[in-house]
Amino acid sequence: MKILKFGGTSVANAQNIILVEKIIKKESLKDRIVVIVSALHGVTDQLIKGAESASAKDETYLQIIKALEEKHINLVKELIPVLAQSSWLSFVKKHFNDIEDICNGIFVLGELTDKIKDRITSYGEFLSSSIIAARLQHEELDCLWMNSAELIKTDSNFTNAKVDFAISENNLKIYLNEHQNTVIIGPGFVASDQKNSPTTLGRGGSDYTASIIAAAIDAKELQIWTDVSGMMTADPRLATNAKPIAEISYHEAMELSHFGAKVLYPPSIQPVMIRNIDLFIKNTFAPEAPGTLISHHPEVSENEKQQVAVGVSNMSHIALLTLEGSGMVGIPGISAKLFHCLSQEKINVILITQGSSEHSITIAIHEKDIFQAENAINSAFADDINMKRVYAVKIETGLSIVALVGENMKSRSGVSARMFSCLGNNGINIRAIAQGSSERNISIVITEKDSKKAVNVLHEEFFESEIKQIHLYICGTGNVGSKLIQQIYDQNAYLQENFSINLRIAGISNSRNMLFSDQGISYENYLSWNDQSTKASVQDFAGEIVSRNLRNSVFVDVTASPEVPKVYQSLLERSINIVACNKIAASSDFEVYKALKNTARNHNCSFYFETNVGAGLPVIGTISDLIKSGDKINSIQAVLSGTLNFVFNHYDGSRTFSEVVAQAQKEGYTEPDPRLDLSGTDVARKILILAREAGYPLEFKDIENIGFLPEECMQGDVNDFYEKLTQYEDHFKNLFNNAEQEGKILKYTAEFKEGKAKVGLQHVAPDSDLYHLYGKDNIVIFKTMRYSEQPLVVKGAGAGAEVTASGVFADIIRSI
Ligand code: ADP
Ligand code: ASP
Ligand code: MG
Repeated sequence: MKILKFGGTSVANAQNIILVEKIIKKESLKDRIVVIVSALHGVTDQLIKGAESASAKDETYLQIIKALEEKHINLVKELIPVLAQSSWLSFVKKHFNDIEDICNGIFVLGELTDKIKDRITSYGEFLSSSIIAARLQHEELDCLWMNSAELIKTDSNFTNAKVDFAISENNLKIYLNEHQNTVIIGPGFVASDQKNSPTTLGRGGSDYTASIIAAAIDAKELQIWTDVSGMMTADPRLATNAKPIAEISYHEAMELSHFGAKVLYPPSIQPVMIRNIDLFIKNTFAPEAPGTLISHHPEVSENEKQQVAVGVSNMSHIALLTLEGSGMVGIPGISAKLFHCLSQEKINVILITQGSSEHSITIAIHEKDIFQAENAINSAFADDINMKRVYAVKIETGLSIVALVGENMKSRSGVSARMFSCLGNNGINIRAIAQGSSERNISIVITEKDSKKAVNVLHEEFFESEIKQIHLYICGTGNVGSKLIQQIYDQNAYLQENFSINLRIAGISNSRNMLFSDQGISYENYLSWNDQSTKASVQDFAGEIVSRNLRNSVFVDVTASPEVPKVYQSLLERSINIVACNKIAASSDFEVYKALKNTARNHNCSFYFETNVGAGLPVIGTISDLIKSGDKINSIQAVLSGTLNFVFNHYDGSRTFSEVVAQAQKEGYTEPDPRLDLSGTDVARKILILAREAGYPLEFKDIENIGFLPEECMQGDVNDFYEKLTQYEDHFKNLFNNAEQEGKILKYTAEFKEGKAKVGLQHVAPDSDLYHLYGKDNIVIFKTMRYSEQPLVVKGAGAGAEVTASGVFADIIRSI
C-alpha cells in the first residue's frame, strides 16, 4: 500500500481537486492507496480567526463562518453531480450550523480554550476529506471515507497532542485490514483523545497523520503532494534560485524542516524513518517532476558529493532569552533548572548556546512564548535574582534563525568560516550561533529584516557556484551614467559566461526620479525608465536601497553633485559598496574622507573612486598597490586635467580661448561647470586625493593654486563665464605668446613633493616628460622609494565619458 497526502493548496478549489483526482486515479491503478487531505487552503486559519473573533466579542465571526460555508457549498456544486448534490449541501450546512453554534457559545462566554479550538479546526479536514471522497465515489472509484481522527489516539494536550503510537497503529492496522477498498480517504491533522474529544497534531500536522498511517501498515512509500517540486535548497519564496533536492537523508530533511522548511512538518519524518519507508515530496501542479526522495541512503551525484550543504532554511518570529550572572559559573544544575521550567510550561526550545565561561546561557524560542517563558524563568530563579547570582532574564525579539544543513559538513573544515565571511561581507550581524554536535547543521540568529538577504547570501555561496548576482544602484544618468549603463548591458552576457557574475541594475536614479527592480531593470524598461519612475531625492533613493536590503549591493555615484556623497556613510554602515566618480567625498575634509574609508573597512565593504583622478587610468589603484607592498611615495608630478590639456593643446590664438573651451565642454571633457577645471579647483582636488592615498593627511586649503583665470570670470553663471572669456581673450593670448617665445608650451600641472602640493600653469620645455602629451591625455609620474631613478609613469586618455564609465565599471567589478 502507498500513502498519499495532499496539502491545502492541492485541495484549495475544484480545479485543483480535479488534478488531485487524476493523481489518485493513476496511483490506484498500481496499488491500494490511502489518501490523507488537509483542509482547503486557508480554512484552518479562518476557523481559528472566527473562533478568536467570537472570544473577543467581535461579531465578524459570523461573516467569517458565512464565507467559509459558501466556499464549501461552491465546492460541492462544482464537484458533485447535480442529482446527488442536495444531501451534500445539507451536509455542509449542518456542519456550519454546528460551527456557528460553538462560536455563539464562545461569544457568550468570551473564552476560547484549546479544546474548543481543536473542535472547531477539526471541521476543516473533516469537510474537505468528506467532499473529496464523495467526488471520487461519483467518479466510479472504489473509495471509502475513513474517520482517521477516531483511529489516531492522542493525549489531551489540545492543539499539539502527543500520539499514542501503540493504540493508534493497532487501530489503523485493523481498520485497513477490514476495509479492502482501492482508495481509502481520510482527514489529516485531526485525532482524538481517550474521551473521544477531537485533538489536533500541530499546525501542518496532516503530513504527520499520513506518516503515522504509513508506519502503522508498513507502507511501500509515503508521498507528500504539495505546491512545489520537492524539498528545495531554500524556501523558494525567499530565494528565487532555490532548486529541488533530488535525494536527501531523513536526518538532513529533519534538520531542514525543524529549522523552517515548511514543506514538511518536522515530526512527520520520525515514523517513516524508523520503518525505513521512502518518503517522496511531489508537486500536484507538476506531477511529472521527479520531486524529492527522502530515505536512509540517498543516492547523490558526483557533483552533489562535492557540496558541503544540502539546504538552507529560515525560521522567523524568534526571540532570544539570555540568563546571565556570575552565580552561574561552575554551579551544576542551573541549565537543568532552566530547561525544566521551560518544559513545565511546554515551551519549545529551538536553539541553545552557552559560552565556555558558563557565565551566560542563551536560548531561542518562538516569539509567541516569550511572556510565559519570562515569567516562568524569573519566578524559578527568583532567589538567585534576589541574591544577585543571576540577572533577570534578558529578552530580544524580532529575530530569525537561519540554518545551513548537510551531512557533508562533518568532514569539511572551514564551512563556518565561509558562512560567516559571506554574511559579514553583506553587513549581516550575527546575534547567536549554534552548531549541533552532529555537525549536520550550523544555525545563526539574526535580525528578522536581514533573513531574506542571509538566505540568499548563503544560497549563493553554497549552491550557486555558477553565478553571483550583483545588485547595482546607479545614481546619475548624465554623460558618464548613461555610458556606464550601456556598457553594463552590453557586457553582462560576457561577464556571466566568463566570470560567473550577473550584474543586475536594481535601481536607477537622477536628481528627480528613481526606479527599482530587485530582479534587475530590463534594457527595454531602462530605455523608458523616466516614464515608469517615481519622484525622488537622493535620500529617498538611499533609504529604499537600505530597506530592500539585497545582497552584494553596489551604490554607484556617477554625478558631480554635493548632495549624493551625503548618503555614503549610511550606506557603508549597511555594508553597501560605494563606487564614485564624484570626487567631492574623497576631496572634502580629511576627517570625512578618513571616516568613509574606515567605515568601509569596518563593514567589510569597498569605497572605490579610481576615476576621481585620470578617468579610467590606473592611478589610485597603483598608489594603493605600491603602499600596500611597502613602498613610499616621494613625489608626484602630473598633468591631471584632460580638459586643460585639451584646451592648451588646441589653443594657439587662431580661435578664441572661449571657443576652445566650448568645444571641450561639447565633447564631454569638462566638469558640468567648466570653471571647476579652468580655475584649477578640479586639479587641486585630484592632487589632494593622490596625496591622501599616498598617506599624507592634507586638506584642500593646503594646496597652493597658482591660477590663470581672471577673478571676474568666476562670477555669474556658465553663460556669463563664456562671455567673460571672450572679453579676456588678450589675456589668454599673452599667456600663449609668452610660452611660445621661450620655445615652450603651456601645461597646467600638479606637483606633490616633501609633503606639499601645488597646482598651476607652467611653461614646459620639449625635454620634459610632460611635454609630449596630446589631446586630453593625463600623465602621472611617481618617484618612490623603489622607483627612485626611473619613475613609474602612468599615461593615457584622462577624460571622456566612455573611459570614465569604463573606469567606474572596473571599480564595480573590483568592489564585489
Ligand atoms: P501544504 O499545504 O501542501 O502542506 P505547505 O505550505 O505546508 O504546503 O508547504 C509548502 C511550502 O513550503 C512551499 O510552498 C514553500 O513556500 C515552503 N517552503 C519553505 N521551505 C521550503 C523548502 N526548503 N523547500 C520547499 N518548500 C519550502
Ligand atoms: N490544516 C492544518 C493546518 O493548516 C493542517 C495541515 O494543513 O497540514 O495547519
Ligand atoms: Mg504543510
